[in-house]
Amino acid sequence: MRIGIIGAGQLGQMLGFAARRLGHECYFLDPSENPPAARVGPVIQAAFDDPVALSVLAEKVDVLTYEFENVPVQALRDIGGAAPIYPPLEALRLAQDRLDEKQLFERLDIPLPRYHVVDSVDDLRAAGETIGLPLVVKTRRLGYDGKGQFVLRELNQVEDAWQAIGGVPLIAEQWVPFDYEVSAIGARGTDGTIAAYCLTHNEHAGGILRVSRAPVDDDALTTKAHTYLSRMLEHLDYVGVLALELFVVGDELLANEFAPRVHNSGHWTIEGAETSQFANHIRAVAGAQPGPTGTVGHAGMVNLIGTIPDAARDAGIGQLHDYGKSPRPGRKLGHITVVAETEAERDTQTSVLAESVTQSSEAEGTAT
Ligand code: AMP
Repeated sequence: MRIGIIGAGQLGQMLGFAARRLGHECYFLDPSENPPAARVGPVIQAAFDDPVALSVLAEKVDVLTYEFENVPVQALRDIGGAAPIYPPLEALRLAQDRLDEKQLFERLDIPLPRYHVVDSVDDLRAAGETIGLPLVVKTRRLGYDGKGQFVLRELNQVEDAWQAIGGVPLIAEQWVPFDYEVSAIGARGTDGTIAAYCLTHNEHAGGILRVSRAPVDDDALTTKAHTYLSRMLEHLDYVGVLALELFVVGDELLANEFAPRVHNSGHWTIEGAETSQFANHIRAVAGAQPGPTGTVGHAGMVNLIGTIPDAARDAGIGQLHDYGKSPRPGRKLGHITVVAETEAERDTQTSVLAESVTQSSEAEGTAT
């Protein structure tokens, strides 16, 4: 089958590798010069909302999907059925606006942090007074990796927060004193079959994912997360992979956000699961049932951000994925996955890697 992928970054690259192994051909659309997915298939170099380029891509392929969340939904609607698009555009639309996303969680009875819509400095003050401080203030649209966020600790910072990220619609959330963060990732096929992975434990710094570990050994939390995930997949009549990010507070889960695509916290599935999230996304959008999602060991994934230090190449631990991007502070350039027989062994290897990567990045002045 010919699969069109909008976005040709590292997610596109890994989708492309998976598609090739499944016997499919991929075509990409991306505005950047020589993006990572150019290694796997032809790239139409154009803006994501370029109607001509989108039509050319749609004409070439049997099905379209996307690996990038900020593709203008209207531009995709305008292609007008030239090729089916999965995941459904309604999922993309909801994920693009934090208010719509939160209202979806509410409709589906998925617990979430308290929040307040903020369109002015006065709204922000009111949010602080009703929810309490600290507050995490976020832009409703176009935020990622912690960008477009401000932590408001004192009410006298409302003007500063507005100066920093205001002037556009915002949302203010209760600061959640979470125990840790997890993601629930699953795939749904066109026939409605759902296959979910075990929970992944995620560590962020500066709003960027640094380390993921799977599986999280907690049956009750896993059951709860899978219930929420299935509710979303079914409600959206979803096809493809979806990632739901959650805060763990005691034995409760609070939904933070979801991504209608393959997710960084699922990269470990390439080596650590029976079928990777990339293969399962491709299988689903190509009309096949998702493959088995069981683990093949205890997996740890360390992101390589800003630089790929020699220490990461020379560590001799795990599998290095170099996306072939040029180094830039804060940029995700690659990742390393370890799969071990025991949790303890996985944790030791992951910590050694994470530490050597952080130290080398700091030494090279590229830490974020
Ligand atoms: P986001 O862009 O919403 O995924 O936020 C990036 C990261 O910031 C999250 O993964 C958390 O580590 C942290 N964060 C976001 N929102 C909150 C919150 N309401 N309370 C505590 N930490 C948060």
